[in-house]
Amino acid sequence: MKKVTIVGAGLSGLTAAITLARQDWEVEVIERRDGIGGPARDMETGEKTYVMVDGTPMELEKLRDYLGFDISPATRPMNRSTIYCFGKRYDVVFPRNVPAVLVERGMRKDSLDMLLYGLAKEAGVSFTFNTPIKTRADFDQLPENTILATGLFRDAYEALGIPFVQTYGHIAFGTMENYGGPPVIIYMDRYTQDYAFFSTINGMGGALIFQRGKPLTREAKKWFRFRLAHDEGIEFLEWFDLNVGVLPMGSSKNPRLFHDRFILAGTLAGMQDPVLLFGVHGALVSGKIAALALTDREEALKQFKRMNALWRLSYYNRRFIEATHPWGLHYMGRLGLDLQPYYDWWLLRYAFAFIPGWLRV
Ligand SMILES: Cc1cc2nc3c(=O)[nH]c(=O)nc-3n(C[C@H](O)[C@H](O)[C@H](O)COP(=O)(O)OP(=O)(O)OC[C@H]3O[C@@H](n4cnc5c(N)ncnc54)[C@H](O)[C@@H]3O)c2cc1C
Repeated sequence: MKKVTIVGAGLSGLTAAITLARQDWEVEVIERRDGIGGPARDMETGEKTYVMVDGTPMELEKLRDYLGFDISPATRPMNRSTIYCFGKRYDVVFPRNVPAVLVERGMRKDSLDMLLYGLAKEAGVSFTFNTPIKTRADFDQLPENTILATGLFRDAYEALGIPFVQTYGHIAFGTMENYGGPPVIIYMDRYTQDYAFFSTINGMGGALIFQRGKPLTREAKKWFRFRLAHDEGIEFLEWFDLNVGVLPMGSSKNPRLFHDRFILAGTLAGMQDPVLLFGVHGALVSGKIAALALTDREEALKQFKRMNALWRLSYYNRRFIEATHPWGLHYMGRLGLDLQPYYDWWLLRYAFAFIPGWLRV
């Protein structure tokens, strides 16, 4: 039986694991944490269970056909959102044919992470938890067929010399009983070069302000907490400073399927759109492509390049926003949102091509 080792039990690693185990590979997944669930796992204290909520465009049926499994039980439709752009409020209702969804992440049974874990176990994948692969020497000891899918953690980037940007955050979670407001609320303002957002799914909610490249100021964190409470009546008991991790936007050449003798998947492979940071879709699709790379390198590389075709354009767009902050974001954001009622659904769908993985074969 052919053997493969996958480092990282996140979205891309689990997708690669399911795909290969179903093709009769012997698959071992090595994970640094003591179980599945990503950052929500690190936050758990006693009886409290946290969830993260990712919002992203996804065509669930097409994705199911491509991946060979259905992730819709871990999603909810996202039909509207409220956006505050430099003080002006926009209530955006997505046309029915714009496929935006919310995804539950974490350790609850409804989460995408647990859904994939269940499928991987069912396919016969074996897991080794509590085993971080950290240093160059650790990476050098990995066997021949290895897929690296370590997400936002810094170690692999540093050990392998892959450019990255550090990201800083301030986060809160809580239950959202009786909440009837928009499922997603986004804030763009001068306080962060990125954005701040609140999102909710299945009775739980979370809020995050984050910024790439430089730490958030105290003023920025205070501003976001105040705005959420003042504008939307949303208050959380506890806020944490969060090391969000590193993102694959250190250079215009970040996306890569192969590096040294390794196959890369997910965030580490550059599968995140540089402007809005949609990463769920790219992680899933790239897990499938990483699996293909073991048997057909050329075809995998062809698919990888195609699904990242617009990455560099998006990267330079992001650089422009940084170089001109805050006025660039202000005017681009306002213009885009002011024109929003005139968008036709096909125009939005056209923009989705910037999301890694969207242009899959
Ligand atoms: C706060 C936040 C909000 C986000 N919001 C959205 C959103 O709204 N929409 C969207 O589309 N995307 C969003 N994303 C991005 C999305 O979560 C990621 O793109 C996606 O999870 C990437 O999948 P992955 O497989 O690359 O990594 P992950 O799912 O993060 O999995 C990586 C796994 O590898 C393990 N690991 C890491 N290093 C090692 C090591 N050295 N040794 C062993 N194991 C290791 C980790 O513990 C983890 O289990 C968000 C990300 C964050 C952090």
